[in-house]
Amino acid sequence: MRLTVLGCSGSLPGPSSPASCYVVEAGGVRLVLDLGNGALGALQDHVGADGLGSIDAILISHLHPDHYIDLCGYYVALRYGPVHAGRRVPVWGPDHTAERLAIAFGENPDPGMSTEFDFRTYSDDAFHIGPLRVSTTRVRHPVDAYAIRIEHEGRSLVYSGDTGPAQALIDLARDADLLLCEASFRDGGDHPPDLHLTGVEAGQHARAAGARRLVVTHVPPWGDPDEAAAEARTAFDGPVEAAHAGAVWEL
Ligand SMILES: [Zn+2]
Ligand SMILES: [Zn+2]
Repeated sequence: MRLTVLGCSGSLPGPSSPASCYVVEAGGVRLVLDLGNGALGALQDHVGADGLGSIDAILISHLHPDHYIDLCGYYVALRYGPVHAGRRVPVWGPDHTAERLAIAFGENPDPGMSTEFDFRTYSDDAFHIGPLRVSTTRVRHPVDAYAIRIEHEGRSLVYSGDTGPAQALIDLARDADLLLCEASFRDGGDHPPDLHLTGVEAGQHARAAGARRLVVTHVPPWGDPDEAAAEARTAFDGPVEAAHAGAVWEL
């Protein structure tokens, strides 16, 4: 399983990275986790000029613009560009993803983007995309938000999405080979509850889950990803790295 970071800037695009977007490739399947502002350019660079049609599914963690808004541009490429998916591209997300996208684009939600995208809503049930098993859990954020676990041939990757401290994230990340975890806040600040994690909290979640490796992400442009990683190392004994655009991990 290969994880490629296309965008990791927290809450908005930054000068060195788009907002959230990660590509997971395994078993001949290519998934996109989140497609935040600015990420569609990096995605085209990653998959090549014709590659947008070859994405097997897009999984959206929640409906904040830094996680989903570039689906609008992807829709334009599918509808008007030389991209031929040959099918409706599956888009998994929270309730109302289809309506929110249509409204963002100024279209009537019926049919909205349903001729280009096959919208599907998370439930408690795991599902498969080709040979990849996907399970999700609701996490703690001001909007309906999910963490996502992807498994293939005994390897596992868990992505936190955006969340405050959450036992559900620990449960989902149990024994994961890699936990890709947001660390938006620095330790010691007066932070709003149920919004984001500090670097220390990301480390605590990785340790409690028994994850084998931690990658911290979603640090805003005014923050320092290396500081987030250093914080996490105070709470987690395993390898800790900071995500940056273009980084790749092989699991
Ligand atoms: Zn975010
Ligand atoms: Zn968010």
